[in-house]
Order: sequence, then C-alpha cells, then structure tokens
Amino acid sequence: MSIYWNARVKKLSPYIPGEQPRGRQFIKLNTNENPYPPSPKVSEAVQKVLAETDFPGERLRLYPDPSCADLREAVAERYGVKPEQVFVGNGSDEVLAFAFAAFFESGPEAAPALFPDISYSFYPVYAGLWDIPFRTPALTKDFRINADDYAGGPGSSGGAVFPNPNAPTGLALPLNDILKIAEAQKNNRQVLVVDEAYIAFADEPGVESAASRTRVAEWPNLLTVHTLSKGASLAGLRAGFAIASEDLIQGLCHVRDSFNSYTVDRLALAAAAAAIRDPAYYDQVNRKVITTRKRVSAALEGMGFTVLPSQANFIFTCPPEGITAARLFAALREKGILTRHFNKPRIDNFLRISMGTDEEMDRLLEQLAVSDYQ
Ligand code: PMP
Repeated sequence: MSIYWNARVKKLSPYIPGEQPRGRQFIKLNTNENPYPPSPKVSEAVQKVLAETDFPGERLRLYPDPSCADLREAVAERYGVKPEQVFVGNGSDEVLAFAFAAFFESGPEAAPALFPDISYSFYPVYAGLWDIPFRTPALTKDFRINADDYAGGPGSSGGAVFPNPNAPTGLALPLNDILKIAEAQKNNRQVLVVDEAYIAFADEPGVESAASRTRVAEWPNLLTVHTLSKGASLAGLRAGFAIASEDLIQGLCHVRDSFNSYTVDRLALAAAAAAIRDPAYYDQVNRKVITTRKRVSAALEGMGFTVLPSQANFIFTCPPEGITAARLFAALREKGILTRHFNKPRIDNFLRISMGTDEEMDRLLEQLAVSDYQ
C-alpha cells in the first residue's frame, strides 16, 4: 500500500479474475469462455474495417463512433426494442460498474443495494468503488435466490442486482419471479439490474431473458445486462450491452460520458454487430454447450459428485465424501486442467467447471475416473 493512494483506494479489495495461463497448455475450464469459435462473420467484419481503404488499418486513425449507433441498432433489432433503449460498453463488467454508479445511492445514509451472498464477486467490489452500502440476502439451503428477499416494500432497499442464471451456482429464476421483483422495486422507485451473462445457455421452461419491448415499457426500472463474452464466444473482444427504458439508458450514458467517451473500439463495434446479426450460428453452438453440460452433469453424478442443476455454461459441483474441492482443484491443475475454486463460506467444497468441447470434457472425466483422489 502506497502513501500516495487515497483512503478510498486503500480500502478496496479488487476482483481477482480466473487465471489466464501463459506458456503451458491447459484445458481451460476456469473462466466460462465459450469452447467454440465465434461466427465466421465476426472476423469478416474485422477484416472489412482493416481493409476499408487501400492502406491496411487506415481507419484505426479515427476515433470510433461514440454513440455506437450500428451496434445499438443490431441489438435493438434482435430484441425488438428501440436503439435508444440500448447501451453498449466495454464488456458487461463496465456496463455493471456504470449501473452501480448511476442507480444505487452512495454514502452511509443510503438504503443498501441488494445482491445475493453467493453471487458474482464483482458486485461488492463495484459497491466499494462507488461507496454504496449493500446487504446480501442468503441463498436458500439449496442455493436458490429467494425472490421475496428482493421484493420488500418502500425503504427496504436501494435497488437490487443479481445474475440470472446466478453465478457461480448456475441456478436460474423463472421470468415470473424476476417480474415480481421488478414490480416491487418499481413501486419503491428503485432499479432492478438483471445480469444475463449466462442466459444463452438456459433451457428450463419459464427461464428466459427479461429483455423485451413490452417489459421495457411496463418496467422502466428494469435493466438487463448482456455480454458477448459467453454466448457469442467473444471474451477476447470486450463488448457488452444493456437494454432498458430510455431513462435508465441515459443514466448510463451520463456516467460513461463523465468517464470515457470511447469505451468500445472500432474493431469491437464491427465484430460485435456481426455476432449479434448471426443468431443462427450461435443457437447451434450454444445448444452443443447445453448438451455437453447435461452429459457431464450426469457423468459426475454417476461418480458420486453433487451437481447443482445448471442453466449456464458451467456447472457447480461438490466432490464425493473423502475428497475436498480444494484438493481436487489442485490435483486437476497438476494434470493440466484448470477449474475454479472459491475459498468462501458455504461454497468452499464446490468446484466451478466451465463447459469445454466434448473432447476436453472427456479428458476431465477420464482424469476423475483414473485418479487416486477418486
Ligand atoms: N456477469 C457475470 C455473472 C459474469 O460471470 C461475468 C464474467 N466474469 C460478467 C458479468 C462479465 O462479463 P464480461 O465483462 O466479459 O462481459
């Protein structure tokens, strides 16, 4: 800690991202990336920007469109909303950070923002960054979000945020529950942020995206946040977006334009728009991921693991008695397989395993079957 840091920065405990190894080749099942490549239209779009004039890359001389108009139009068309109801950012992490800054009150007097005790570990970090008080209702015994915890009356909270499906559990709330919470928060004049990072992998009846033209109109306090990192295989690009009423979108623009006018670069804008315009490709890819998830979940259960019923592109699993998740994490790493272990109360005996290709998952299952920690 430096004498030059201000008091707020000294108090921060930053988010620790999953390992991105260099050198040794790992089977990477630790950061929920999509195992399949992006649509071929993505690299075509990037090439097109680079070859727009006779001099390769000449267009990079110019700033990108600060309003991200083309990408916003692509998203608007896909979700049946207006471009003014779409905000684009440098990954959904940035969109979430802006949402915390724009919609939750800061300072010791403020009503606390709500998010689950077991959830995306960036939320408390953003709260710390913007000095936002928060409360963390506990997940139920079976690791589900209890919708009633977020649907209290006036003064019960300063708004709410959670992922649907939740991370790292992978469990999802049906749309009805989301709308019940949105309605309660609307009556309280507060915002509900639903982080839909993993919604592309949901297939349970009743579980679906809350983003739609009619819902944006009926719940002007409902902001859904989306990423291209998971469902669109573009974690290396950094693009995310939000869909909401014009009111909320303008709030996000206010924060962005007080921070950095050009958060999404020219190549990312073109590539992300091409991805959004190719849903058929991604439907096919993501269906494959869902099939793999079901197969691997069943195989692990067959080996005595407990597997939460995931709606995401990862599973959250507790090893059979006699093996700890921490030991398994280390042993798999030794064998060249990276997973994610969270050393936190209630979940320290779980591993989060991202879905890789079928071949990668077979390697994982083989390791688990032959090893002496079985
Ligand atoms: N929300 C959740 C729940 C996540 O797990 C992640 C990925 N770490 C993100 C948001 C951020 O995704 P990105 O910034 O890549 O869009």
